[in-house]
Amino acid sequence: MSLDDAFAPWQQRMYEHAAGALDAGRMGHALLLCGPAKLGKRLVAEHLAQRVLCQSPDPAVRPCGLCRACALYRSRSQKDPIEQRPDGSLAHPWGHPGHPDAILVGHAWRMTPSPPRQQTVITVDQIRELSARLATTPQYGDAKVAIIDPAEDMNDAAANALLKTLEEPVPGRYLWLLSANPARLPATIRSRCQRLEFRLPPAGEAVAWLRSQGHADGTAAEALAAARGHPGLADAWLRDGGMALRREVAADLAKLASNAASPLEVAKAWTADESATQRLLHAADIARDDAAGLTDPRRIRKLAAWFDAANRTRELLRSTVRADLAVADLLLAWRDVAGEQAKGARR
Ligand SMILES: [Zn+2]
Repeated sequence: MSLDDAFAPWQQRMYEHAAGALDAGRMGHALLLCGPAKLGKRLVAEHLAQRVLCQSPDPAVRPCGLCRACALYRSRSQKDPIEQRPDGSLAHPWGHPGHPDAILVGHAWRMTPSPPRQQTVITVDQIRELSARLATTPQYGDAKVAIIDPAEDMNDAAANALLKTLEEPVPGRYLWLLSANPARLPATIRSRCQRLEFRLPPAGEAVAWLRSQGHADGTAAEALAAARGHPGLADAWLRDGGMALRREVAADLAKLASNAASPLEVAKAWTADESATQRLLHAADIARDDAAGLTDPRRIRKLAAWFDAANRTRELLRSTVRADLAVADLLLAWRDVAGEQAKGARR
């Protein structure tokens, strides 16, 4: 199977666009791949890297998947989004580092899917190591690729160190930054990179892709609407139970609005397991959806205030505060906001 078979249609378009620019010599040495998480930025970057490093004599077939460079590239057995599908599990333990001319920095390349925040910072030492390795002669072929994912994890010193590398381009050296939050990168870095922007695909294409991933029509459409047109997020929610959780949250909020459930009881249930944060994300999202269907500015303001409160409460859950009490306060407020709406709707 070729790697292309793993591409969603929007990923294929991004890849072909970038590959065309590479082949035509229109791509600078620094590229910023940005756009929402879970759209496949890393998958596209990996395929491009393999294309750049491939040693097939025929440029039209790169990456060929057959040459020594391709075999080396694919031998990397660190966390790899291609190996992760379809159940999200990791196929290999930490092992072979892969192609020596592919330099990968950032927690996205680690085995641990989501390390604690303090462990995700990219330091100046890591960037200096990257720059030193990028400056040496390639071990195979005539190119080297460095990829930083997620680039916004660089601290100030790391970003400053990277600027030097960005300002001194060397032929055959590519530096690619991946970011779902490019606004968090220093403007000096952004302005020195060519931008490849991933956008949400048209709804029809997204639903067709979700169906191709094995999801039924109805659930695919429901999840896509809940994820505001983001197929990668909808797919993740359908796989990891996120959609079922969202339906539960919506049902609980409806019960609270009609006084059919007690805020404290619901709060206890919401904070009894690991999904408390996810529930509050869904709840805030549902409030935003509700507000979108309203015309009364006063009610829209109340829902917006509740949306902010839900996000603040979610932040509080990281601290030592009693989670059930914080959430109970929030749900009590929901009864006031949404209960009034329910009455209004009946009038
Ligand atoms: Zn090859």
